[in-house]
Amino acid sequence: MNLVISMQQYFVKEVLHNHQIVALDEQQSFHIVKVMRMKENDHIVLADADHKVYEAELLSLGTFAEAKVLQQLQRNTEMKMPVTVIMALIKKDKWDFFLMKATELGAARIVPYKAKRSVVKSDDEKIDKKKQRWMRIVEEAAEQSRRQCVPEITDPAGIKELKKYLSDVNLIAYEKESGSGKLLRDVLNQPQSATIIIGPEGGFDPGEVDELLNMGFECISLGKRILRAETAACYALSAIDALVE
Ligand code: SAM
Repeated sequence: MNLVISMQQYFVKEVLHNHQIVALDEQQSFHIVKVMRMKENDHIVLADADHKVYEAELLSLGTFAEAKVLQQLQRNTEMKMPVTVIMALIKKDKWDFFLMKATELGAARIVPYKAKRSVVKSDDEKIDKKKQRWMRIVEEAAEQSRRQCVPEITDPAGIKELKKYLSDVNLIAYEKESGSGKLLRDVLNQPQSATIIIGPEGGFDPGEVDELLNMGFECISLGKRILRAETAACYALSAIDALVE
């Protein structure tokens, strides 16, 4: 068994150095003491602000546990190619599921998209609170999946703002292409980065697709079956990972 990958991991906001003593925050300390029932001298992994990972030893437990940094670990769990997922806003439980799974599957950046047919509207007043909750979900999922980086979540964007998130390859997962259109393997010719946009429960409005095509996106199929939006995002990330690894 790889002991390092099985060690519990926590993100810290600072840049770490060997032999440094680090205080974990209250929530992480609670997790270490009450959930994981760890003891002094147990080892954990810390991922720092530079996306480097270190093995550390617990020195003291309590409300703010302390750990001593032992050594940097040569490990990279990030996708070979950064993928931005532009995800149409969907209902809360499905959205939370998407955030968790897209993080586990390696998404580098998540752009909540105010699609024409999104039934969920982003309320600008509540967005800060919502984003805080979303960040907690992706941070936990990133720790659980031993990622080096927590995915970025941008502010919800309308179609005109999507130009900011273009990559080397820009794809629309379009339900009308299912079973006939180009597949991921046809369009991923060793790009440095990729952006994929997934529509809401009701799919894309045709005018919206035209606007995206003008922006430089191209349509692809995710296979013969019509998937739910959150399944489509998970499928796309898994397939891209398998194709570029
Ligand atoms: N309401 C639409 C329909 O019945 O045709 C389906 C929308 S689907 C639930 C939500 C989104 O998932 C789509 O807008 C698309 O982005 C993506 N999607 C689902 N299945 C797909 C497929 N086979 N190919 C491409 N995209 C797909």
